[in-house]
Amino acid sequence: MHGGYHPKITASFLVVAVVALLVGQPSAAQTTSADDGGSSISPDPERYRETVSLLASDAMEGRRVGTPGGWKAIGFMETKFRQAGLLPPEKLGGYLQPYEHDWHGKTDAANVVGFLPGTDPVLRGEVVIVSAHHDHLGRNTGSGCPDGRHGDRIHPGANDNASGSAAMLELAFALSSRANELKRTVLFLSVDGEECGCTGAKHYVYEDPVFALEDTVYVLNIDQIGEDAWLEKHRKPRRVDHGADCEVDGEVFARRGIKAATLVGHNSHYHSPEDTVGHMDFPEAMKVVDRALELVWNAAQAPSDQAAVTRGEP
Ligand SMILES: [Zn+2]
Ligand SMILES: [Zn+2]
Repeated sequence: MHGGYHPKITASFLVVAVVALLVGQPSAAQTTSADDGGSSISPDPERYRETVSLLASDAMEGRRVGTPGGWKAIGFMETKFRQAGLLPPEKLGGYLQPYEHDWHGKTDAANVVGFLPGTDPVLRGEVVIVSAHHDHLGRNTGSGCPDGRHGDRIHPGANDNASGSAAMLELAFALSSRANELKRTVLFLSVDGEECGCTGAKHYVYEDPVFALEDTVYVLNIDQIGEDAWLEKHRKPRRVDHGADCEVDGEVFARRGIKAATLVGHNSHYHSPEDTVGHMDFPEAMKVVDRALELVWNAAQAPSDQAAVTRGEP
């Protein structure tokens, strides 16, 4: 049950939401018809390709946590969250959730967090999270992440995980264009430090959940959808605990007993400097974006959280 406590989503929040939507006009708020649910909200393939290309560009230097390129990626995601009309959580005082990355070495890091408030009087107290990690390996040198395999070449990480970050942004733009219909609150979490111990997801879950975890009914994590991808549902543990390590951010939530799944795929150039935009299968990735949108839309709209995770899945 998701009893007494609800996130503080008040009338003033909703006013801010409306203003934010008016100011930050989604650039491609496409709706083909009004009455057929999530499938009528169209992600934008051109914008998707552009986003992946920017995140994987040399200017971002592989987006390693704590590096100048990593901070460029954070700034980029923050800008896009604002453009999409997402609200910054009040408790963070902005979109950034800074934390100290501490995994075989310390550095400053930050998640980027924004949300769309639900509008149903009851269900808006429940939260659906879309997450994707923006960090990658950078030049693959230094402490704190896997290193040494490919010298100091930039690892652009187009598939891992510019593909997922760009997908999350497409969901943000698309859902923002239908924000007045969303029943549950949808929170977008651009995660730092995934490549090095999932520190960003752990920070959110263990140190600073923006909305109470007991109100979080579903997490859809997106990580590497640039070749072909499937939905992997994470098992809940018999005993809820930290877990020593992690494979993907979705697991971090699942270990706390939250329903979580990751859209994840193959990567023929996994953790290699060859993980480039040229190796992305964009038409395939867009199919996954559509599926992600359907999953999240259904999770946000379903009458109960049980239904939320079963509807919309093939
Ligand atoms: Zn990844
Ligand atoms: Zn990786």
